[in-house]
Amino acid sequence: MTKELYYEDPYLKEATAKVLQIKENALLLNQTIFYPTGGGQPHDTGTINGVKVLDVYKDEEENIWHVVENPEMFRVGDEVELKLDWDRRYKLMRIHTAMHLLDHILYEVLGKGTWEPHGSGMNPEKGRYDIRYPENINQHKEKIIELFNRYVDEGGEVKVWWEGKKRLTQIRDFEILPCGGTHVKDIKEIGHLKKLKRSSIGKGAQRIEIWLE
Ligand SMILES: [Zn+2]
Repeated sequence: MTKELYYEDPYLKEATAKVLQIKENALLLNQTIFYPTGGGQPHDTGTINGVKVLDVYKDEEENIWHVVENPEMFRVGDEVELKLDWDRRYKLMRIHTAMHLLDHILYEVLGKGTWEPHGSGMNPEKGRYDIRYPENINQHKEKIIELFNRYVDEGGEVKVWWEGKKRLTQIRDFEILPCGGTHVKDIKEIGHLKKLKRSSIGKGAQRIEIWLE
């Protein structure tokens, strides 16, 4: 199992590691700062010894593999320098945490039991949250944006802890959510909502897309 440095400190931008195994174009390291695709969050990019990291994934044994552009540059046992594309990762941390905040605000504005999540996704530019709710949420759009920006201004710690193998997160005293992603330390870092767009995706489901400033 690869040691997950991004859990110990999600703000780590560089680290060193040891190459344990090479399989085709992928490296297995003893530890990593590269977040692998999972839990709705895309994998990190960056470099290992200056060689581009193209993909990062976790296998069934919880080993994390780094697909690199030039695997022939590496040998088992090498000490390597890891560097994250921090700009991309930080955007993902902000948008990811924004999705948690949005989730809470939907509970607050629409009520509990009136709607249910129907999938979500994110990329560095925007977040997507699909929900089932009988009415058009556009009527609540202003309230959602206002609350979002107010909470961001007030700030609040994003707590993360483990219960056995389960990783839990909580913003302020809001709902506790299981989540394996990377988050900012304080919701102040999310920044204001630039845009919120609602669209229908059929069968009583609607899509909320958000962009940050
Ligand atoms: Zn999360």
